[in-house]
Amino acid sequence: MIVEKIVTGPLATNSYLACKDDVCIVIDPADAEPIIQALRRRGIVAVVATHLHFDHAAGVRRVVELFNAPFYAHPADWAVYREINEVALEWGFEIPDIPEPKPIPDRLWIFEVWHTPGHTPGSITLVADGVVFTGDTLFKSSVGRTDLPLGDWDALVQSICRLYTLPNYYVVYPGHGPKTDIGSEASKNPFINISICKSGVPRNPY
Ligand SMILES: [Zn+2]
Ligand SMILES: [Zn+2]
Repeated sequence: MIVEKIVTGPLATNSYLACKDDVCIVIDPADAEPIIQALRRRGIVAVVATHLHFDHAAGVRRVVELFNAPFYAHPADWAVYREINEVALEWGFEIPDIPEPKPIPDRLWIFEVWHTPGHTPGSITLVADGVVFTGDTLFKSSVGRTDLPLGDWDALVQSICRLYTLPNYYVVYPGHGPKTDIGSEASKNPFINISICKSGVPRNPY
């Protein structure tokens, strides 16, 4: 698999192309144009939002229309979806309407889809051989916020502890900031690390 990271949108979201044999999945298109440029002549299997915050989906419409591709997200985020334009406006951004997502299946192309709620109720992680796309669930040395509407700290801890069951060498491609790997976060993440997973739910920092 070839992974290309494209930082787009006003909140510096990591959008990704995960490609194999000249076809790609587009993950979290915050802004369509740079993604369309980066795709060059490759086709796309689907567009996926790791969760339905506007900074991970503002570019979806243009990409799915241009490529006639399906758009998937987790149904537990439908309530977040309904508020997406309103929340964007509260943050000072007017975004194009996001097409209605289809419920993401448990397996999509070369990925397993893990439901990893906490940052939002429908946050997902895409898991392939040696690689995970964690959206705003797990970052390098940090974890997703749970103080936004419908965030759930205890669920986030469960989700991240589940990610730590993956082998250490798995590369983590997060929704913001640099990549990392499961082993580094499991041992050193200051918010949720493996010792916390073994000893119980830590204090909610929010
Ligand atoms: Zn988010
Ligand atoms: Zn985000």
